[in-house]
Amino acid sequence: MRVDLHSHSTFSDGLLSPADVVERAVQRGVDVLALTDHDEVSGLAAARAAAAHWGLQLIDGVEISVLWQDTTLHIVGLGINSTHEPLVDGLAAIRTGREQRARRIAQSLADAGIPGSLEGARQFAKNPELVSRAHFARHLVSAGHARDTNAVFRNFLTPGKPGYVQHQWSLLEDAVRWITGSGGVAVIAHPGRYPLNQQQCESLLDEFRSLGGTGLEVVTGSHAPSEYATWARYARRFGLRASAGSDFHGPGEGYRDLGDVPVLPAGCVPVWTELVCGTA
Ligand code: AMP
Ligand code: MN
Ligand code: MN
Ligand code: MN
Repeated sequence: MRVDLHSHSTFSDGLLSPADVVERAVQRGVDVLALTDHDEVSGLAAARAAAAHWGLQLIDGVEISVLWQDTTLHIVGLGINSTHEPLVDGLAAIRTGREQRARRIAQSLADAGIPGSLEGARQFAKNPELVSRAHFARHLVSAGHARDTNAVFRNFLTPGKPGYVQHQWSLLEDAVRWITGSGGVAVIAHPGRYPLNQQQCESLLDEFRSLGGTGLEVVTGSHAPSEYATWARYARRFGLRASAGSDFHGPGEGYRDLGDVPVLPAGCVPVWTELVCGTA
């Protein structure tokens, strides 16, 4: 069974519509897919319809932006109820904050001699409520400021570089509560990407677990295969289940393609056993 529990559509910063994400997943042999748009669940309805058409099992998901001890974290919710009011309201508040952040990003780029980037980023954002750094990156590439989006993130939009602004996202405890309160399970996305030392990392996993978090992404497009074992050990040590996902954003855009998800290392307890029909 091929499982991919992390993907994006045009409802956040992906390049394909939810229906096209689902169709591509089917073509690539994915049996179980979670659509996990950033701070947004509005793409799930179209994904669900496409999944029913193709006979793919869709897990309703979301990827929530959190600020934890000055570090931005992403918490994936799987098996959520996307109509749960605290979740809906919490995500709406994050999207409102994104709008203000986008203006500050544009101001920072303007100060560095690049005017007009908010209008530019908006051209790439199909969902006007969700302007992400990925949209700024696509604009900066098309305006000739960088060769590709990877080059953008080396020179712009990241700490210490033009276009980076610190932002107050949601609180970890709120994000976990919105997810679990809706009946879903909370998973820390791509833990290897955060600038945390070992002590901070242990403190995060400890706190996440005590807040009711369930899983840790062990296999993700953001981890080198050599890192899987490290995160599998952390998951076991902190009593967390293991998740796996490509973090697909679009054909030819960073990360991996749908279904490019190697099997979990031995000893991991998969997070999906209770989410997927026929595996529990
Ligand atoms: P935001 O949620 O607005 O801060 O945007 C974060 C998104 O930017 C991520 O989900 C990725 O899609 C993209 N991103 C962040 N860092 C990089 C990077 N180094 N290379 C390519 N894309 C990145
Ligand atoms: Mn993204
Ligand atoms: Mn992420
Ligand atoms: Mn993601």
